[in-house]
Amino acid sequence: MAKVRRGDTVEVIAGREKGTRGDVLRVLPKEGRLVVQGVNLRKKHQRQIQAGGRTMSPGIIQFEAPINISNVMFVCPSCNERTRLSIHREDGKVRRYCKKCDSHVDS
Ligand SMILES: [Zn+2]
Repeated sequence: MAKVRRGDTVEVIAGREKGTRGDVLRVLPKEGRLVVQGVNLRKKHQRQIQAGGRTMSPGIIQFEAPINISNVMFVCPSCNERTRLSIHREDGKVRRYCKKCDSHVDS
């Protein structure tokens, strides 16, 4: 399932947030995990800190923690279904197609 890229929409298929959809913000291939917008939100209490010359306000910071890639499935932008992807190489480029509707899903 390392076929998912940043910017893709995925649906959570396991765990307590099953059924939630969001955009992929980051992929961590080495860890086999990814960060999905609005999924696996964690809260962190932040003291006022200095970071790179900027002062960050204290308060509660909400951020998305990475989840396992195997817990999500790609959502096709054309048919809006959870799907697997088929990979084709054309002109040296990897193109991804929806296995349900055969749409080319790369933007
Ligand atoms: Zn499709």
